[in-house]
Amino acid sequence: MQEYKLFINGEWVESGTGETFDDFNPATLELMARLQKATVNDVQHAVESAEEAFDSWSSKPAPLRGKILFRAAQMLEERKEKLSRLMTQEMGKILKEARGDVQEAIDITYYAAGEGRRLLGETTPSEMPDKFCMTIRRPIGVVGLITPWNFPLAIPAWKIMPALISGNTLVFKPASDTPLLSIELVSILTEAGLPKGVLNLVTGEGNTVGGAIVHNKKVRAVSFTGSMETGIRISREASNDMKRVSLELGGKNPIIVMDDADLELAIDGVLWGAFGTTGQRCTAASRVIVHKKILAVFQKRFIERTKKLKLGNGLDERTDMGPLINNQQLQKVTGYVDIGIEEGAKLAFGGKTAGPLPGYFFEPTIFTDVSPDMRIAQEEIFGPVLSIISTDSLNEAIDIANSVVYGLSSSIYTDNIRNAFKAIEKLDTGITYINAPTIGAEIHLPFGGTKATGNGTREAGTTAIEEFTEIKTVYFDYSGKLQKAQIDVEQV
Ligand code: NAP
Repeated sequence: MQEYKLFINGEWVESGTGETFDDFNPATLELMARLQKATVNDVQHAVESAEEAFDSWSSKPAPLRGKILFRAAQMLEERKEKLSRLMTQEMGKILKEARGDVQEAIDITYYAAGEGRRLLGETTPSEMPDKFCMTIRRPIGVVGLITPWNFPLAIPAWKIMPALISGNTLVFKPASDTPLLSIELVSILTEAGLPKGVLNLVTGEGNTVGGAIVHNKKVRAVSFTGSMETGIRISREASNDMKRVSLELGGKNPIIVMDDADLELAIDGVLWGAFGTTGQRCTAASRVIVHKKILAVFQKRFIERTKKLKLGNGLDERTDMGPLINNQQLQKVTGYVDIGIEEGAKLAFGGKTAGPLPGYFFEPTIFTDVSPDMRIAQEEIFGPVLSIISTDSLNEAIDIANSVVYGLSSSIYTDNIRNAFKAIEKLDTGITYINAPTIGAEIHLPFGGTKATGNGTREAGTTAIEEFTEIKTVYFDYSGKLQKAQIDVEQV
């Protein structure tokens, strides 16, 4: 069993107190590693080292920063299988999905590396002669990154790579349930040539370590992915010193299945959307809103398919669904099943802890006869629990879909083009899929949500750079005389 340290100013160091915490495999409950509990003082050192490194890193031409990222992307590719297996052991998701998570990290690293030769600004004409106008992008400064456990490599990479190519220096706190992939990522970037102090890693308890990043006045921006509750808190606390904050929070994502849909395709999609990653995706489909005309046949066939899902250790290629991340999550999911039953929904399948191993396994669970206002249909459960809700019409389905506080992802299965475009227009979410489930984002498109899913920022795509840069507007007057905007302009 290995012990890992913090990475501050280019060195692996113990925390100020030497205190540690343990990292377990959620399928087998085996102890995997021991990690440092960083202190507020450790975070302060990490911030100071990032501040020290900022001038030199931000002055390095962006294409040269990109070269380091290209090398890191190649190393991630070479180590893909090893990283995927480590992820399955640490987080529990099945190997096929872990490979997808690592691939997403590879893709965003290449994408961000290429941005080193773009980082585009604008040029526009001036309203006066002999004057030139443009915008340029500048880094923000020291940026704090705080990430969750469900995408242990992809989400850190989604933040780290665009933040680095933009010229920022970083203090990064990964989730305490999955720090090992972050340690691998930091090691790879260091091996790829990232100078000391540019990326600092602090592990430890959310309130203490995350809180110290958010409260540190030298940290100019915080990029956070996690729960709505933590996001709201960070947003409040960061506003004390006007930090820029980007928040990617929860979801309660609906799939609408219309009576004209390809039913088998819809069942495939709902199965993957609801139970992929054991339902622990921010984009997981936790509500399916089915047209009454096909409800009975949909339910029957969907339950038959769900019964065939195989729970187990994700390292076994035959496994369909791994465990939940930890006991707290297991208790939460169990609690929601009790709530669903008390509210009068019908437990049609699952609802119990399960599995061949001692870990945190929970059966794929289906509630039918769910009304849209029940708590199981409104609140994020973050587990393999699906609510089936019936509807008479597309308009009603859209109202139901929009009736939650979140607005991340949504989907509709229909073969009617009018239904599809109506859904695109009216579903109040940041992402909408047609004839595909609510999960499956690609890194070169913006990712994020409306309402309580965030504060309007988007990650990935061209928006990845927006999150981590300031825009400077430049007016270059080469007329050799004072020209006053709006006043000296010839009006016609
Ligand atoms: P979480 O409990 O909010 O934790 C997320 C991160 O914040 C962890 O690193 C955590 O540290 C840290 N943290 C906890 N308390 C903090 C505080 N007071 N100040 C600063 N940092 C703090 O969320 P989670 O359970 O890890 O993740 C699940 C949630 O993430 C779900 O709601 C899911 O929908 C959301 N999510 C959203 C997206 C998206 O892009 N929209 C993507 C993935 C997940 P510790 O681990 O040490 O507690």
